[in-house]
Amino acid sequence: MNTSKIVLSLYLVLAVILAQFFAAYLFSKGKTSYRKAFSALVLCISLYLLGYLMIINSNNLEEMIFWNQIQYLGLPFISVLWLMVALLYTKTISSLKIQLSILLFAIPITTFFIRLTNSWHHLMYTRWEVRQFSEWYSLYMERGIWYYVNISYTISCMFLTVIVYLIGYLKHKDGYIRSHFLVFLFASLLPFIGILLVIFTFGDWCIDYSALIMPVSLLIISFGIVRYDFLEIRTLARETIFENNSVGMLVLGPGKKVIDYNRAAEKFFESMNISLNNYSIEEIYAREPRLLEIFQSDSSCGFSLLIDGEERFFEIDVVPLGYSHDSNTRMLKSIRDVTDERKIKEELKILATIDSLSGLNNRAEFMNLARREFDWVKRNNEGISFLIMDLDNFKIINDTFGHAAGDEIIREVGRIIKSSFRKTDIAGRLGGEEFAVVLKNTSLEEARKIAEKFRETVANRKVIYRGQEISFTLSIGVAAIRGYTDEIKDIEDIFKMADDALYEAKANGRNRVVAYH
Ligand code: GH3
Ligand code: MG
Ligand code: MG
Repeated sequence: MNTSKIVLSLYLVLAVILAQFFAAYLFSKGKTSYRKAFSALVLCISLYLLGYLMIINSNNLEEMIFWNQIQYLGLPFISVLWLMVALLYTKTISSLKIQLSILLFAIPITTFFIRLTNSWHHLMYTRWEVRQFSEWYSLYMERGIWYYVNISYTISCMFLTVIVYLIGYLKHKDGYIRSHFLVFLFASLLPFIGILLVIFTFGDWCIDYSALIMPVSLLIISFGIVRYDFLEIRTLARETIFENNSVGMLVLGPGKKVIDYNRAAEKFFESMNISLNNYSIEEIYAREPRLLEIFQSDSSCGFSLLIDGEERFFEIDVVPLGYSHDSNTRMLKSIRDVTDERKIKEELKILATIDSLSGLNNRAEFMNLARREFDWVKRNNEGISFLIMDLDNFKIINDTFGHAAGDEIIREVGRIIKSSFRKTDIAGRLGGEEFAVVLKNTSLEEARKIAEKFRETVANRKVIYRGQEISFTLSIGVAAIRGYTDEIKDIEDIFKMADDALYEAKANGRNRVVAYH
């Protein structure tokens, strides 16, 4: 056996093992789209190399054709996968859409089937033969039409790949990212050269240069992996978190230029009809001037936006990346949708402060507001009045019409209170069928009149429950305070006064107003 053949075989065996190892390694870490594509790419390469290894080690045509078929399990897809990795890795595209996949894979898949059925139509290879060079055999194939279609496509893909990395390299100012792109650029340039060599020399030497060069390419990439550990688990974890975070993230570099962003940030800008891919930061400002302030500012701020007719609220925070004294500092802007949080807060606040039956303030909230008002009045020598009301003979109503009818009356009283008093007055349900109202800037006499009018309104109102008309009345106790007095120290004192008046109203026959004197 000749030594060059042994060396070449050993070389290919190592390359296949390396490629298989990589494919498995990348697949196991293949959370992001480009790693999945990369894993598929390396697998295809390993199939292709394995086929070539077997071809150079066999000496009959049948076997060689068989292994050539094995090569075509991977070969048609290598260049397009190479391109996809480039597109995904440089973020030229963020994910692989179905239309784009169909477009990119149409020719490779066709090639695969044409090679599979070559014996029927000979579109791929018109003729096969085994040729012998010195001491070793190789497969000579005469190329058919489709071979040229496929190779043109392959070259286009590889060419585009190189261009994509080149653009990525030129576009990025960041040295770290640039070196990544440079490694990939070199790794992509080599098979490209290999293919060109194959086209122009294969006929003469029957040597597949791209199969020889591919392992070198893989080695360069593995160098990249070790050197920059960009496939390392920590990096992967960070990247996955960044990419899939529901918080929009935007990395701004010197001059507040957008360097990187995640999907949520992309969506946020999409809802303003701004595509981060296509717009420069100046154009973004021009489209949405409010963003200018947010981008230029070094502190957190709020932002609201109409999305699908609904106003949504965002909190935009800043995390400096690097040294803060550097005026050209890089920073991470995080964009958090706080709409739901706000809604929940508001709902919780309502639950905690509003009585669900009457829709008025509950006892605790009423007392808080009333106390605040009371303190203010005492300090500022103003006057306020308090009304305490209790429905008359409510037990009887409950007993006669049922508890649900009683509830309906409480609801109705809530509505009457809301529509009868001023917006500035404070009303609440103290519990059971007892209500209270604080009338600001109102003297005892004025309050008594207001209460009287209210009592009348209630007495004239009827609730219709299950076809029955129910009348109801209430009694009201009124008390007032003006400025500081010694007898009325705190709010409980004045409540006691209003309560005493209410007691008197009840004792005097109900459905009446009594003012404390
Ligand atoms: P008075 O004129 O002296 O106030 O007579 P009253 O029957 O209304 O007596 P009181 O105020 O002491 O009784 C309140 C009654 O109201 C007792 C209770 O059954 C009823 N009640 C308290 N809370 C509710 C409620 O949320 N819904 C209904 N339907 N009834 C309630
Ligand atoms: Mg009552
Ligand atoms: Mg009561």
